Order: sequence, then structure tokens, then C-alpha cells
Amino acid sequence: MLGTALSGIIILVQVAHASRGDSSNEYTGCYHICHFNNCSSSNDVAVYESSQSLSEKVLQWTCDDECRYNCMWQTTNVFVSRGYEVPQFFGKWPFVRVWGMQEPASVIFSVFNLLAHIIGLRRFRQSVPPFAPLYRLWQVHALICINAWTWSVIFHARDTPWTERMDYFCAFSMVLFSLFGLFVRLSGPRRWRRKEMIGVICGLFFTYHVWYLTRQKFDYGYNMKVNVLVGLLNGFGWISWAVPRVEKRPYARWCIFTVVGALSSMLLELGDFPPVFWAVDAHALWHLATAPLPFIWYKFLENDCLYLAQRGTGYDYKKQI
Ligand SMILES: [Zn+2]
Repeated sequence: MLGTALSGIIILVQVAHASRGDSSNEYTGCYHICHFNNCSSSNDVAVYESSQSLSEKVLQWTCDDECRYNCMWQTTNVFVSRGYEVPQFFGKWPFVRVWGMQEPASVIFSVFNLLAHIIGLRRFRQSVPPFAPLYRLWQVHALICINAWTWSVIFHARDTPWTERMDYFCAFSMVLFSLFGLFVRLSGPRRWRRKEMIGVICGLFFTYHVWYLTRQKFDYGYNMKVNVLVGLLNGFGWISWAVPRVEKRPYARWCIFTVVGALSSMLLELGDFPPVFWAVDAHALWHLATAPLPFIWYKFLENDCLYLAQRGTGYDYKKQI
């Protein structure tokens, strides 16, 4: 979906580097003591594992992770009691853990986005006849978005190098496929060879992107630049398509609203602040802000597919709904 595709850019700005919290003496001292006292023998680890809740086991929390989590809070309390600003740890704010989930608010708001796509896809299938032009294209895009938001839920529930990469790659797949969708929409009903060629180029570029980022240390800067570029092309491309058409086809306004909504929601990410109730930070709010956008986007797609179907056959499918 375009809204989430554009917004996907911002995820990539976050960089997992050492932060003030984890490089402080309070944190490093706490961690070493905790590790030595609780995780240095198999017996200690067995005692820790027996005390774990089911959700913590499922989300694969380890004894060391537990030390990191507890020391994060110990360090935060020290900073706050001394009147210092709330520190970040490994590029992230301290979040309270709920049922083993590291960033519960972002998990819930990612679920909202996921549900919005599932509902949007369902409505699209109910409203648009399967033989309408671009029917399959937008179904594939919806599935790509559902996959991406599933990984966003997983990543915010448990941040590991693997889940982080999957979140980034799947977010990029949304942005890139939306751009491909724009090319297909601009190409008109024929020109299959050109569409196939663009599809192959997009596929090859995605493969290169993933290969480049997995073969060495993750290059956050490159990843961000590529996503910003593809995202902006996408947003401005769709706006340039919709604005001249909105007078004759009022439904094109849903496309404009989605792009404007997606771009505006990105502003939330600029205001980085410590999490409210130790759960809701700017990133979580951004996920909340993008959740209604799929409804508007699918409304646009539905109307556009019906318009194309009507134009192609001279039959008004919308009257049959
Ligand atoms: Zn996120």
C-alpha cells in the first residue's frame, strides 16, 4: 500500500548504534555483575529458564537479554534520579516489556496496520470483479503489505538482527512494489513487454538490495538513501498522476489523500522523545497514524479498477455492487 510504502522509509532512519545508556558505567557495571551472578553457569541459566513465562520463552528471551533489560531500567532510574535526560540504549528508548514484547505500543499499532490491509483486501475482493484490469496486481501488493506488517509486528515484539532485517527488507518490498504498480498503471492496458521488463528490473534490484545488505555489516546509510529515493519517486509519481485527473475522476482524491497522509505522518518521526508511559514513542505514533491510510488507499484502488473495467467493456460494475 502506498501510504505504508512511503512511510516505510522512516523505519530505515533508525540506526542501531551504541547510545548514552548502554555506554554508561552504570549499565556496563550492572550488566557484568548480573551476567556473573545469574548467567555464568548452566545451572544459573536453567534456574532463569524455569522462571520464564511462556510468552518470554516463545519470544526467545535469554538470560543475558534479561540482564540487559533489567540493567536498562536500573540505569534509566539512575539517570532520572540525577535529573539527567532519559538515555537511549543501542539506539532505542527504554520500553516497558509486556508479555515478552519489547515495544508493545508499536506491536499493537503494527497489528492495526496489518488488520487494515486484511480488511482492505477483503473489501477490494468483494467490490472488484476478478477480471477487472489490475485486479491481480493490487492483490499481490496487498499480500506484500500484509507480509511486511506481519514482520513489523514480529520485529517490534522481539528485536534481533534477523527480525530487524526482515522488517527492513519487507518494508522496502512495499515501497518498491508500489512504484512498480505506478509504472504498470501509467503504462495503460497494453505494453506487456515494457511492464514485464520493469517487473524484472524491480525484482533484480530487490535481490541486489537484499544481497548487498546481507553479505556484510548492515549498511544503514545506503538502505536509508535507497528507501528515501524510491519512496519519494513513488509519492510524487502517484501525486503527479492523480492531481490532473481529480476533476474528471473525483476518486483520484483518495490517492492524493493517501500520499499526503503518508508524508505528513512521517513528520511524527522527526520529533524523537522519550516514550510516554514508557511505551508510546514517536515511532509507535507514526505506526498509529498510518493505520487508517490503507482504507483510503483501497477505496482508491477499488474505484480505479472499476473505472478501468467500465472503460474496457462499457459496463458499469459499480452498479452491481
Ligand atoms: Zn516500526
